[in-house]
Amino acid sequence: MSLQGIKVVDVHAHPFRESTTPESPVSFLRKLSLSVIPEMFSSLEGIEKHQPYPGSNMWIQILLRQMAAYYSCEEDLTAIVDKRNQKAKDYQAYTKELFQDVNLVGAIMDFGYPQPPINHAEFEGMTGARIWEISRIEPIMVSLAEMNISFDDFISRYRKRLQDDLSDNQVVGLKTIIAYRSGLEVLDMDRQAAEKDYETFVQDNRATAKAFRDYCFHIAMEACTEADKFMHIHTGIGDGEVVMTKASPSFLLDTLRKEKYKDTKVHLVHGGYPWMEEAAFIVSILPNVYMDISLQNPFTGHGVERVISQVLELAPFDKVMYGSDAFTVPEMNWMGVRLFIQCFERVLNDWVEKDYMSVEKAQFIGEMILYRNFEKIYNITV
Ligand SMILES: [Zn+2]
Repeated sequence: MSLQGIKVVDVHAHPFRESTTPESPVSFLRKLSLSVIPEMFSSLEGIEKHQPYPGSNMWIQILLRQMAAYYSCEEDLTAIVDKRNQKAKDYQAYTKELFQDVNLVGAIMDFGYPQPPINHAEFEGMTGARIWEISRIEPIMVSLAEMNISFDDFISRYRKRLQDDLSDNQVVGLKTIIAYRSGLEVLDMDRQAAEKDYETFVQDNRATAKAFRDYCFHIAMEACTEADKFMHIHTGIGDGEVVMTKASPSFLLDTLRKEKYKDTKVHLVHGGYPWMEEAAFIVSILPNVYMDISLQNPFTGHGVERVISQVLELAPFDKVMYGSDAFTVPEMNWMGVRLFIQCFERVLNDWVEKDYMSVEKAQFIGEMILYRNFEKIYNITV
């Protein structure tokens, strides 16, 4: 069986800016890395012929090799970056070419990163794909707190802002990165404690301010429930700021199984990697909770094959969606699809070979995760 040419919707990625200034080998490597520390890649001098670039990993290795094959050039960073710089002179044409090459027809994008936000219509025009948005709650919390208003005033304006954002047709839900700030062990609403922590948050919007953040999380869950839209929750690792000891999706279970959230649609972003089995278990027991395989795809490189296999040990086939978390250059969106399809085909062909299923069923499952589940879950046809 083959998934080549099947249309793809990416349910978690970020928009990126047009950038026609040529990349240097080092600046290109930096754009490919999850590292928040720019010194991670600094000098490529004195590297021997077959030596990996210092700080590079399997994802970068696979990307460079497949880019070299795509451009028919030598697998050499300078040669590859030269070729892509040529192409990127017409950034829009290059982006469209890469999206079309892998039939990437749509994406849910988190416009909360980068800041200041990128224009939706312009970005859509640049990619040629349909783009839907999720609205991140944290920048809203920050902008309202900067107004130095009372806690009650804050809460009523915050609630109104969420409702307004959710009423936009292009917005499919809200998103929280509470895992980066105070962790996923969200406690019940405690108004008094939240008001106290609000004062701390006003002084420093990166502060933990846990009771305040938990309170805002619940309001966002309520707003999504009312609007019948999706609450996207960052789970698992991400950038270097993550509260790693409280980032596993298991911390969310008590909140998600509450009676008041039984109809709330929840999307576990990044499927909790490296705790994806926990996410797989959660989506297998809660009817309105879904997960994607983004970030772990493509940034774990060859590991994507293992991850897909592991997630589908327990997760129902109709609860998992394709994602990339691509965030800087169109090569990331392109490689996300390519690597995922290569790995997924191996997993599915193995199941066919072992006679767990027919070729046709394997094909259908492939299509479900690439776009059919998105269409069904989000009620959007692409
Ligand atoms: Zn992301």
